[in-house]
Amino acid sequence: MATPTDVSKSPPDAEAIIARESNYPELQDLLQKALQVRPTHDIELISKAYHCAELTHRNHYRKSGQPTIRHATEVAQILIDLNLDTTTVAAGLLHDVVEDTGLPLSRISAQFGDEIAGLVGGVTRIRDLTFRTPAAEQAENFRKMLLSMVQDIRVVLVKFADRLHNLRTLKYLKPETRRQMALESRDIYAPLAHRLGMARIRSELEDLSLKWLEPKAYRDIQKKINLTRKEREAYIEQVHASLQEALQKGGIQADIKGRPKNFHSIYRKIATQGKAFEEIFDLLAIRILVNTVPECYNALGVVHAMYTPVMARFKDFIATPKSNMYQSLHTTVVGPGGVMVEIQIRTWEMHQTAEVGIAAHWRYKEGKRGPSDLDRHMAWLRSLLEWQRETTDPHEFMEELKIDLFPNEIYVFTPRGDLIQLPEGATPVDFAFAVHTDVGFHCMGARVDGQMVPLSTPLQTGKTVEVITSPHQHPSRDWLTYVKSARARSRIRRWLKDEEHAHSIRLGQEILERELKRRRKRATDKKLEEVAADFGVTDVEHLYAGMGNGDFSLNRVIHKLFPTARPTPKKTRPESPGGRGKSPLKIQSLNNLMIHFARCCRPISGDPVLGVITRGQGVSVHRRDCSNILALTQHPERILELDWDVEAAETFVVHIQVTGADRPNFLRDVTQAIADMGVPIVGGELTTAHGQVGDRFLVEVKDRHQLNALFKKVLAVPGVAHAQRVDGAEGEA
Ligand code: MN
Repeated sequence: MATPTDVSKSPPDAEAIIARESNYPELQDLLQKALQVRPTHDIELISKAYHCAELTHRNHYRKSGQPTIRHATEVAQILIDLNLDTTTVAAGLLHDVVEDTGLPLSRISAQFGDEIAGLVGGVTRIRDLTFRTPAAEQAENFRKMLLSMVQDIRVVLVKFADRLHNLRTLKYLKPETRRQMALESRDIYAPLAHRLGMARIRSELEDLSLKWLEPKAYRDIQKKINLTRKEREAYIEQVHASLQEALQKGGIQADIKGRPKNFHSIYRKIATQGKAFEEIFDLLAIRILVNTVPECYNALGVVHAMYTPVMARFKDFIATPKSNMYQSLHTTVVGPGGVMVEIQIRTWEMHQTAEVGIAAHWRYKEGKRGPSDLDRHMAWLRSLLEWQRETTDPHEFMEELKIDLFPNEIYVFTPRGDLIQLPEGATPVDFAFAVHTDVGFHCMGARVDGQMVPLSTPLQTGKTVEVITSPHQHPSRDWLTYVKSARARSRIRRWLKDEEHAHSIRLGQEILERELKRRRKRATDKKLEEVAADFGVTDVEHLYAGMGNGDFSLNRVIHKLFPTARPTPKKTRPESPGGRGKSPLKIQSLNNLMIHFARCCRPISGDPVLGVITRGQGVSVHRRDCSNILALTQHPERILELDWDVEAAETFVVHIQVTGADRPNFLRDVTQAIADMGVPIVGGELTTAHGQVGDRFLVEVKDRHQLNALFKKVLAVPGVAHAQRVDGAEGEA
């Protein structure tokens, strides 16, 4: 178990070093503890780091009045307790010297080597994330944290230890600093610790945050736990004795413990589930530790033979570890006297991993164990980083990060009985992506416990989810409004981005080809490649894409191709549809995904229209008389000639307003007139004032022709004075 820096020392050497440090009892203490946890610690190096820190921090004091070196020593102590290597412990001692005393990092590098200097530099770069700073800065800080974690995960372990000790000594700080630090610990550090599987650190971070954020609730829970302790302990003792006996009879060597429950999780259950303290049965929790995996299942059998399990399905986190590598069997049984008892069964090794998480994986990495768990953690971190790079809105990134880190998870089953964990509020789409990316891309429906549900339905723990796929189904932008997992979200985004790019290429190509045909010109591939290079893009596809998303105007491209050609004239005056001499794009010829009808003027088939190329969103179709078009004439390169060519089956929603003098049955007669035309009414808004009616209807029509016929029919209703379109450009009667 030796690392490059853990040069084995024979015990007498270590003892001699400790004895030598009699002027520094605090250091002696630290070294003793280090040796107890890990006899191979390089005691010499730890004391060298201590002396460097002690010297640079000399005469520096913290708000608590304690010398700063005490803080450094405590941080190192926490790292020793996590059983981390000498390098990390030394970095813990030195973690504040660069920031507090301005000692250059190069000095640390020269004295302690690049590895330790790298850790200290990493910790220094991650300033405390603060909620008062703008989202952009917060996201940037978090990015730095992720980057340094990916380089060396031990950076964040030192940061956790630092934060933990700061929280323990929080009472010496100003109230607002206190609150801020507690909030940040609860919302970012604790969830991150959870995600990295560090239950012990997470639990303390949460409890300490709660203590400062909700002091009254914290004291309440503390009081109640103390009051019920005797009773609880007596009960656990009783179950303990029966279990011990049964397990022994079954030939299973097991260690049974009452399980401490953290204040924060009790608080959350009281606050979010409205439960009374007395109802929270996981207060009665027992943990059975055994040596091997088969013994876990054997022990489970013994438990279930003794007590009735409450839920038909216990949770098997051994077969399906949680995303933070946590493994255990969970079951809830009816104990003596009808009391619910939550029982966890796991091996000692799983227990160790559950307590210190990634710190344990780090330890294994240096030994003979496979690094696969660490790699999985790192893969998660890398994907987070990649995803952060793709998210342009820092606010959105921080929000989603909180969702991804937040420990509220639900557990659902595949039809085969595999457990899938998802963030709370996750939908069948999240589930589909958790099963496999391809399942996500093609999911079109879902059954929950056999019932068909919409894809946006939030899933509940314990349900069985079955995804129905179709090769023709693809992700839709809508999905982004309800998916909860970062995985699904980033995959959908990526897909949409690729798709948009492909559409932009097709659109750009089509625009250019039409124009070339109109001008009776040709452009060779070679020529196009030259133009692409002129525009600074790698190939013709990117040239098309640039035209398709409005970055490069048609005129500029034409001018590059044929420098003497006249530019296409600007269109500012509305023209009649389908005018000869120009060849407008047919709406039908554009892919549906690329085209959308502007909501400001709601064009319908037959209206004179224009297209506007919008960035990354294809073509937006407006009526030529839409007031927004006039604003866009400053960007004529984004305007596209369009003409209708839609299938008869297509319908369009328009707003119409019908006004007139009120009389009995006015509304009935108007709606009847609309219905007689076979035109569905999809919405309406009725207003009557001073005997005047002004009713608005959202109706679904096939085209302009049908709409005009509709107006005629409505105007024929007695009492109707006007009937007109009311979207954007005010319209014809
Ligand atoms: Mn510190």
